[in-house]
Amino acid sequence: MVAGAQTLEMTPATTPEQDLFDVAVEQFNIAADVLGLEDAMRLILSHCQRELTVNFPVEMDDGSVQVFTGYRVQHNTGPGPTKGGIRYHQHVTLPEVKALSMWMTWKCAVVGLPFGGAKGGVTVNPKLLSQNELQNLTRRYTAEISMMIGPNQDIPAPDVNTNPQIMAWLMDTYSMNVGYSVPGVTTGKPLVLGGSEGRSEATGRGCVFAVQEAAKVLALDLSKARTVVQGFGNAGSVAARLMADLGSPVVAVSDSRGGIFNPSGLDLAAVTLHKERTGSVVGYVGADDVTNEQMLELPCDILIPAALEGQIGAQNADRIQAKVIAEAANGPTSPEADRILFDRGVFVLPDIFANAGGVTVSYFEWVQALQAFPWTEQQVNERLQQIMNRSFTAIYETARSHNVHMRTAALVRAIGRVAEFTRLRGIYP
Ligand code: NAD
Repeated sequence: MVAGAQTLEMTPATTPEQDLFDVAVEQFNIAADVLGLEDAMRLILSHCQRELTVNFPVEMDDGSVQVFTGYRVQHNTGPGPTKGGIRYHQHVTLPEVKALSMWMTWKCAVVGLPFGGAKGGVTVNPKLLSQNELQNLTRRYTAEISMMIGPNQDIPAPDVNTNPQIMAWLMDTYSMNVGYSVPGVTTGKPLVLGGSEGRSEATGRGCVFAVQEAAKVLALDLSKARTVVQGFGNAGSVAARLMADLGSPVVAVSDSRGGIFNPSGLDLAAVTLHKERTGSVVGYVGADDVTNEQMLELPCDILIPAALEGQIGAQNADRIQAKVIAEAANGPTSPEADRILFDRGVFVLPDIFANAGGVTVSYFEWVQALQAFPWTEQQVNERLQQIMNRSFTAIYETARSHNVHMRTAALVRAIGRVAEFTRLRGIYP
């Protein structure tokens, strides 16, 4: 079987025809207009600095060979080493990875981390691979991109369908090739290999800190606010649980097979058990099944997209009932939907801020690895909350002073910061 012949088991959130990088550049230009950014700076920052495509063979369990395509893109190395996750998904494309790497630059800048943005991905449905095949694929992909990564160069992390075990194989492969252990080459590692306390929960936790800050300025009582979470993976399941801990009835959750809805609130522990047993939240007895499209339009106060990009567009933005959208996922909302939601008074916590908890605690993990000095979970969570709260205040003030929505405000702050780095460093040679 060749890679392209793999069975696709879910509806694509984006298709190769939709160029996600165009979306990222459109968002960039809107903010660049607000900033009055000079033409040369626009030209520099609207391009990705380095783009690597790799086609590599993997020996499968049955002895056959498949060739997979992967990418590593560094959008901007100006602020420091680059940072960004690795995604395994059958719809990964170069434009998608480029967009995600650009968003990583803005994300690191908006919360003040000393990193530029990067992203990686392999076009593969990992659910069709055995553990052995997954390990072979990860090790060969790591070797192929090894000229770009390193603890002072570019530091990968988990993203969709990648996890601490995959980061452990990546770290081991890199370490074997240089001849000594390099824990700082990746983040999101298992704890025993130098992972950070709080990293696996960081994206969901940071997103909920963002929601709490928004609730303060919007005078929203979170103990009564109903929450819908699309995507019940790393980011979404933690966000759902932490919202429930605040007293919010989580009325619907979903995964790639569909969603479940109970207007009185779901028992998330029971839903998690059901997913562990059956592989999906769908079919849980204490709720009605709904489609992923219906999920987004359910009556609720907080909507947390935590799956893939391209979920909220002109086709459904006017039917969203939530008062707050907290983007745990990257790129769930199109620029046109942003305009519709802003006009309707829906408060959007944009991805580059709302899911920055993940990269923030990755930064903490990297610092702990470089110092060989681990922090407690309480230290991690407190420092994360400080950064999220401080960033919210700054973005909110920018949004109000420029009368723009929170995405443009976050981008204005981020792009302004990266532009300043670029001006100060000058153009080499
Ligand atoms: P994950 O693989 O752990 O979970 C993804 C979830 O989305 C799964 O439950 C999957 O079934 C579901 N899903 C996939 N396609 C779907 C669809 N079409 N409709 C509904 N649900 C669907 O991935 P994750 O790490 O939780 O990442 C989710 C999002 O959060 C991505 O956009 C990712 O880039 C973003 N993000 C993740 C991190 C992190 O630290 N993991 C950090 C920042 C941003």
